[in-house]
Parts: sequence; structure tokens; C-alpha cells
Amino acid sequence: MRLLIMGPPGAGKGTQAAVIGEYYGIPAISTGNIFRLAITNRTDLGERIKRIIADGGYVPDSLTLKVVVQRLEEEDTKGGWLLDGFPRTLGQVKALDKELEAHGFTLDAVISLTADEEAIVRRMLKRAEIEGRPDDNEETIRNRLEVYHEQTDPLLEVYRERGLLLEVDGMGEVSEVTQRVLTALAQRIGD
Ligand code: AMP
Repeated sequence: MRLLIMGPPGAGKGTQAAVIGEYYGIPAISTGNIFRLAITNRTDLGERIKRIIADGGYVPDSLTLKVVVQRLEEEDTKGGWLLDGFPRTLGQVKALDKELEAHGFTLDAVISLTADEEAIVRRMLKRAEIEGRPDDNEETIRNRLEVYHEQTDPLLEVYRERGLLLEVDGMGEVSEVTQRVLTALAQRIGD
């Protein structure tokens, strides 16, 4: 099973990705987590991207693609994966298409979590207090939303046209949203 999960920052992608990945026994791969780990570990990559992430911009495709391709070569991806937060640009869609084609793989579905933006901002500010993420102040959050609409909204259309998009209401309790996602996936691809 090969899945993508998309949605504006703060829509709960990471939380849902972890649960869904576990349910299907596939790794949930988050580019955001990989980047944050690189920053914490002060690797070369981390040093190059920390400013970009703190400002709420996108890491350049060239760096992002390198990280994803490398991760998809690891052993645990053989049975499938769920990509959380990738692709985010049309360039990344193209690169992912190529990568899939090279291995004779196809995507099974693209989950799009929808959310009310003001509620998102409130939720992210709360999360900032709890987790202390450096990209969770109000200015950065607004910037991340703007970048998302500009760069990532067009991807929804691409996947809708391909008949892969599953739009799921991301508002409500985590378990409710999980149930919605699993129901939508089961209807699409069978349990
Ligand atoms: P996330 O945890 O998915 O919200 O990602 C946190 C931050 O990492 C984003 O705001 C971007 O700065 C960066 N990032 C994550 N995934 C990507 C991607 N696919 N392309 C570019 N930047 C990314």
C-alpha cells in the first residue's frame, strides 16, 4: 500500500499518519520530522535548512528529494509506505511520479485532510506551548499557511484528476478523524 497524506500545516497530518501507518503496517514517513531531526543533530542538512524551516518556507526541492529518495531505499519500505508532508510542490509530484515508475509502483490513494484555518492557527499556537516547535509562532504559522496555499493547493487538483484524492474532514477528535480516514480508505481500496 502506497499512500500520501496532505493538508494544511496544523491539520493533524502527522498524528493521523502515525496511526494509519500502524494500522496498515507501513512506515509513516514525514519529511518534516526528518528535517527537524537533522536540525536537532546539527547535520550539514540541518544547518542548511534551519532558517528556512524557522521562517515557515519550503526546503528546496533538490534537498527534499534527496532525503525522500534515500528514505525510500530503506528496508522497511518494501511493503509500502505513507508519505506525510511530501510532495508539497508540483516539482516534487513529478519527481515522485518518476521514482514510482522506476520501481513499477503506483499510488493507492491520496488523503487530503481539510480544516478550518482559524481553528488551525489556534491549535498550532497551543501545540507551540506544549512542544516548543520553533516554527509555531503566529507569524510563521500564517506564512506556512500562505506558502501551503500557493505551492501545495495545486497538487490537490492533480490528484483529484487522477481519481486518487480522498477528502476527509480533519476537524474533531483525533479518533473521529482516524475513523473517517480508515472508512474512506476501506471504501476505496478494501480493508
Ligand atoms: P511538517 O512537519 O510536515 O509541517 O513540515 C515542517 C516544515 O518542514 C515545513 O514547514 C517546511 O519548511 C519543511 N518541509 C517538510 N516537508 C517538506 C517538503 N515536502 N518540501 C519542502 N519543505 C518541506
